[in-house]
Amino acid sequence: MTAATDTPNAQSKNGTPSEPGKDFVRETVEDHLHGGGATIHTRFPPEPNGYLHIGHAKSISLNFGIAQENHGLANLRFDDTNPLKEDTEYVNSIRNDVRWLGFDWDDREFFASDYFEQLYAWAILLIEADKAYVDSVPADQVGEYRGLWTEAGKESPFRNRSVTESLGLFRRMREGEFPDGAHVLRAKIDMASGNMNLRDPIMYRIRHATHHRTGDAWCLYPTYDWAHGQSDAIEGITHSLCTLEFEDHRPLYDWYLDQLIAAGVSFRNRPRQIEFAKFKLTYTLLSKRRLIELVKDGHVDGWDDPRMPTLAGLRRRGYTPESLRDLCSRIGLTKRDATVDLSLLEHCVREQLNRDALRRMAVLDPIKLVIENYPEDQFEDMDLINNPEDEGAGTRKVAFGRELYIERADFMEDPPKKFFRMGPGREVRLRSAYLVTCTGCVHNDEGEIVEVRATYDPETRGGSAPDGRRVKGTMHWLSAAHAVAAEVRLYEPLFEVEDPASDERPLNEQIRADSKTVLDGAFVEPALADLAAGEQVQFERTGYFAADPDGTPERPVFNRIVALRDTWAKIQRNKS
Ligand code: ATP
Ligand code: MG
Repeated sequence: MTAATDTPNAQSKNGTPSEPGKDFVRETVEDHLHGGGATIHTRFPPEPNGYLHIGHAKSISLNFGIAQENHGLANLRFDDTNPLKEDTEYVNSIRNDVRWLGFDWDDREFFASDYFEQLYAWAILLIEADKAYVDSVPADQVGEYRGLWTEAGKESPFRNRSVTESLGLFRRMREGEFPDGAHVLRAKIDMASGNMNLRDPIMYRIRHATHHRTGDAWCLYPTYDWAHGQSDAIEGITHSLCTLEFEDHRPLYDWYLDQLIAAGVSFRNRPRQIEFAKFKLTYTLLSKRRLIELVKDGHVDGWDDPRMPTLAGLRRRGYTPESLRDLCSRIGLTKRDATVDLSLLEHCVREQLNRDALRRMAVLDPIKLVIENYPEDQFEDMDLINNPEDEGAGTRKVAFGRELYIERADFMEDPPKKFFRMGPGREVRLRSAYLVTCTGCVHNDEGEIVEVRATYDPETRGGSAPDGRRVKGTMHWLSAAHAVAAEVRLYEPLFEVEDPASDERPLNEQIRADSKTVLDGAFVEPALADLAAGEQVQFERTGYFAADPDGTPERPVFNRIVALRDTWAKIQRNKS
């Protein structure tokens, strides 16, 4: 199901539309402001264990967007509590991607690892208050004690060890006296709780591992639940926005804050956690773990492969930050999971590029067209409109001559009646140049068509006939003497199933063999040879493309962002 395409822009908690432009998170923030609350302060808290993907774009636009709308602040916080999976490469890519999306955290860049000392001190407060204890049940027996959904857990035999003993052991854990897994620190809550997260959750694990920032200073690392809410509190966060899977963690989030307050700690703001549904996209995997697999196993050409849903991949493909922000604001926020249709993402970028992108001519699968009555060695410059949606974009000169390239698919030797392109005896328009009448074609020894031939009407310069006669087809073209050889890469979704996350097959069986097509015999207008990497254009009649960094002025390379056909807009039209 692709529910989000028919979901109203904004929804309240129970799924009914709220005030236009307002969602349940924004309403909560507004209540807070009316209630005399302090400035809104949010954070985007990525774990630097992979590249950001389009799902993160939703969280980024939400956190930074709400802060902007309310003259508040948003922090960038690296949630770096797991040394085994994290890396500085990811930290750098995350900074770069958030900036690219158009958001700024000024000097408010933080790391959970900066709080390790504070978190440790607070853990000691909890032990002293008899709200946490060192547990020494072997790791393989922990499951037995935890119990089931339907059945209470069992208390660990170490649960009632003395405060002094726990304090001593906890200190020795930090000193590195024990191997991984020998002990853990657990909160003392309720082993019979209906909420599994409250059954004495783990606060610290021993892990002799080098951390990308703290090096070997620690061999004890806090869990997500212990680190997250306390980091929020340290930074003065007012609203801690996270995805729905943390809904059941909220009581624990609050419990930790309550215990610290009871132990005499005071916070600038007491943060509250609010959950919203994850962003999901059809035909797309959005889990960092799976995306790492795609990269590590060589299914794609790296994190910025244009088929990847990472921000780096989308950027290389040619997606603009504006189009991603537009998508995020259209889908709004919901409390229930909904999958966004890939065609909506494509619609957003197409809409923007239709407005902004310059038009250029490129022939992807060329065949030569010879204008028999056009003088050899003569060339003339034709004026072509750069962007019909934007008069200010002006016109450009494109050379026309006797030998041209056209798309192979624009000629048929024996066309059906409704084929409005080239066929023997038929007249068509070469965009902004001349009307030409096809006279036939030339075959090679194998019977393949190697050249199309036509004559032009010199009276039709610019593409219209003085006698007012009309032609149905308009085709793009390039002067063979001027065209620049280029490589063009076409992309399809990596996955053929709509919901790859629920596909059990190994990745190599799920990935489409035809997700990338390289056309290495294409030609483009000379002006395109100098396009800066990342810049977008419309190839007339073909689609929107962006220059790839692999290209050189001698041999530019282009990625297709999207084709021209807009399936999402069509679905919407058919609905109304
Ligand atoms: P993944 O499951 O892809 O590894 P994650 O949740 O582990 O993602 P984090 O780096 O922990 O990734 O996420 C940073 C922030 O982005 C969190 O607040 C998380 O809730 C949010 N986020 C992650 N994925 C999505 C998504 N698909 N839609 C909306 N927000 C997301
Ligand atoms: Mg995570």
